[in-house]
Amino acid sequence: MTTPPAVPLFKVFMAPPAALMPRLEAVLYSGQISEGEPVAEFEQRFGDFVGNPHCLSFYSGTAALHIALLLAGVQPGDDVVSTAMTAEPTNLAIRHAGATPRWADVDPRNGNVTAQTIAAALTPRTRAILVVHYGGIPVPIEAILALAAQHGLPVIEDAAHALGARYNGRLLGSHSPFVMFSLQAIKHLTSVDGGMLTLADRELLPRGRRLRWFGIDRAASRTDVDVSEVGFKYHMNNVNATIGLTQLEHIAPMIARHVANGRYFDAAFDAIGVERCAFDAAADPSYWFYTLLSDDADGLARHLAAHGIASSKAHRRNDLHSVFADCRVALPGLDRFYARMLHIPCGWWVDDEARARIVETVRRGW
Ligand SMILES: *Cc1c(COP(=O)(O)O)cnc(C)c1O
Repeated sequence: MTTPPAVPLFKVFMAPPAALMPRLEAVLYSGQISEGEPVAEFEQRFGDFVGNPHCLSFYSGTAALHIALLLAGVQPGDDVVSTAMTAEPTNLAIRHAGATPRWADVDPRNGNVTAQTIAAALTPRTRAILVVHYGGIPVPIEAILALAAQHGLPVIEDAAHALGARYNGRLLGSHSPFVMFSLQAIKHLTSVDGGMLTLADRELLPRGRRLRWFGIDRAASRTDVDVSEVGFKYHMNNVNATIGLTQLEHIAPMIARHVANGRYFDAAFDAIGVERCAFDAAADPSYWFYTLLSDDADGLARHLAAHGIASSKAHRRNDLHSVFADCRVALPGLDRFYARMLHIPCGWWVDDEARARIVETVRRGW
């Protein structure tokens, strides 16, 4: 029998029952459990939190990405520059929009795309650029936006790992035309499931709202509406929004602990000469998980497991999936990063004792 690791790689954060249960009970028996006032309030409060008032909620981050691609003008047959070093939803959303991902290579120091690798992946059919802040380390977004502007292309940020991360001192959520956050179970902030999309252009909000609910304007009289575009059933409901609202009131210290642990690891691993992800000075990561780099990542994983510390690669590089077989290209930066990276726990559940033990375990070698 194997005992579960004492320090897990991921853990669900749920607000204290005393804060959550009365509100949850009230909404469940309110007679209004579909999309209503709590959803609007959650959008407003989430927008306040990330510093962008133009915010749309969805039942998942994947749904938010799909609608972002449509609002960005992506159509069937288009190409979208993306990264294979991510969770599957990033690139399946491109397929949902009928488009094809074109892989930009990643920086082997951190798994993120760069302006240079994106430039090399552009095609005449490229309609948008989708970037992922992998593990919560911000991509060099200013350089990427400058490149995108040269080519007249919209940028979509997949910030599923990066709630609370900053670039140039500003929270992610308002650098690009579209920024997606996932509220799935193990993300920094969970509403059980859900997604948020922040927009630069408020003019896109009405179409975004229609697309997430069958193409129907919910504010209009139901017999007067005209569905002129195929919409989806992607809206958030009041129950998830109420959970999300309560979570939001408790999330700041949780994110702060991810960041404090991440900075502790940065200093500690540098001091003992163990390679970890490097990133530019303008980036302040949200440290969803922490990434070490080693020529023997499997050996390190076994060593950590033997000491009760969970670790893993967490994702399969997406270009290996059959569904993306037609997109394969040489990605030497990703080859190197994927072979060498290992994610270790860094979140709010890693206390002072655990983080010191993690460093000490790594220091002893593997
Ligand atoms: C979690 C995640 C998503 C979206 O997830 P949902 O489960 O649909 O909310 C998208 N991209 C990345 C990188 C993710 O980790």
